[in-house]
Amino acid sequence: MKAVSQLMSQAIGNAMKMLSERSRLLGWLSVILVVGFLTTSIAGYVVSRNSIRAGIATQALPLTADNIYSEIQRDILHPVVISSLMSQDTFLREWILDGERDPSQIVRYLNEIKKKYGTVSSFLVSERSLNYYYAGGTLKTVRSDEPRDEWYFRVRDMKTPYETNVDYDMANRNTMTVFINYRVLDFQGNFIGATGVGLTLDAVSSLIDSYQEKFHRRIYFVDPQGTIVLAGKSMKDVHGSIRDLPGIGTVAGQILSHGKEPSSLEYHRSGNMVLVNSRFIPELGWHLVVEQNEREDIQAIKQVFWINLTVSSAVSLLVLAITLFAVNRYQRRLESLATTDALTGLLNRQAFETSFQNMIAEAKRTGRPFSAILLDIDLFKQINDNFGHLEGDKVLHSIAQLVSASTRESDVAARWGGEEFLVMLRDCPLEEAINVAEKLRQEVSSHRFPLKRPHEPITVSLGIAQYIPPESDADFFARIDNAMYQAKENGRNLAVASRTQSSTPASNEA
Ligand code: GH3
Ligand code: MG
Ligand code: MG
Repeated sequence: MKAVSQLMSQAIGNAMKMLSERSRLLGWLSVILVVGFLTTSIAGYVVSRNSIRAGIATQALPLTADNIYSEIQRDILHPVVISSLMSQDTFLREWILDGERDPSQIVRYLNEIKKKYGTVSSFLVSERSLNYYYAGGTLKTVRSDEPRDEWYFRVRDMKTPYETNVDYDMANRNTMTVFINYRVLDFQGNFIGATGVGLTLDAVSSLIDSYQEKFHRRIYFVDPQGTIVLAGKSMKDVHGSIRDLPGIGTVAGQILSHGKEPSSLEYHRSGNMVLVNSRFIPELGWHLVVEQNEREDIQAIKQVFWINLTVSSAVSLLVLAITLFAVNRYQRRLESLATTDALTGLLNRQAFETSFQNMIAEAKRTGRPFSAILLDIDLFKQINDNFGHLEGDKVLHSIAQLVSASTRESDVAARWGGEEFLVMLRDCPLEEAINVAEKLRQEVSSHRFPLKRPHEPITVSLGIAQYIPPESDADFFARIDNAMYQAKENGRNLAVASRTQSSTPASNEA
């Protein structure tokens, strides 16, 4: 029975191999699906995100900055030219050098400038008298200890011909005003005062607000020190230097060291990337900063990404389920093909070995009786010879059905050899097995086989034995074989039982 146990372990090995092959197949399939879907989803997300970022960085932000810049140029360049003209005006310079004798003359002059160019204010401060003249008359005398007059003393010591300065205009209801402060020189190049115009950045401010509202962009100006000097409504509460602000502080140095050429920067604010475009506006002496948080633009493609992943997961699960179902079905069919005999539908020899081993093991474990019947068709060669092989096959099939019909659910019938069948009877002592065999013998001999010509009754010879532990499988089979052989010897159409020592006929021809 060494062969049987070898076959057994081979069968178990094969089953394990099939199992592990199936899980390997499913594993690989999952890996391929997951990797495939993840790669396409992530690649799609990254490509869209990058193109959105590129769109913001190379188009949206520069365009906004360009628009604001051109608006500023319109607003500021003009006043700078006017202030420059004023500082070089011969009348103005001579009027100062003549000792500021008739203030009404200069007031008229300033009035005309204001009216002609539509500025909010125009002014002149004389170095000699420190008088502050404006379109409404003489406003005051500037004093070096007055913080609001600080600007004048700065301009006096300045190396450049003019500066822009944001301040509250006392002459104009204290509104936030951008002053162009031009140095006035006499004909020898000595400093004799400061003149210029003031303007509100209304147009720029409303542009900033409209951009902020429409595109959620933050737009603001910082001076060379990094202090925020002008911003839209949404940044009303943001003060101080951008160097100290979270996020933007990381690129503040780059913004402030950058020249007129627009710079494209980025920083992170609460998990999102913020794209920055900054440029120096020489007319103002400020840096213009335009920022956009990519969050809103990325949100949509993030949603698409999650939808993609959800759909992919569902598809993957479906594919895996269908594959598992198909593989299982295929496997079951293969298994049944591998274990059943095609002609009779009974277990084949190989499957029998497994069942037999199980039953023997069970009998040994439980101590319950276990018997087996070996059935051999009598003179089957003659049936083949007389009626042909095909008819012989039909007889084999019919007898297999009779065998099946006579066994209980717990019994197992197998095709043992060419025209030999073996029935294993679980939980069955010898006497009961003899009854089963005898019944089977009678059923076969009385059965009407649908053969073409009349014929002698077809009969079977049976050998019966009960397994008696601790006998070996080989001994057990030898006893059954002997019993069957004895039935043949004794004239066929007999059931003979093996009773350990000697086999005795269990029955005679009915
Ligand atoms: P006995 O057993 O009574 O001694 O006589 P027998 O004629 O049955 O003896 P033997 O075992 O020599 O012959 C068995 C025959 O069964 C020989 C073989 O051709 C035939 N046979 C075996 N398998 C099949 C099968 O699948 N189909 C058919 N038609 N014949 C088969
Ligand atoms: Mg035979
Ligand atoms: Mg035979």
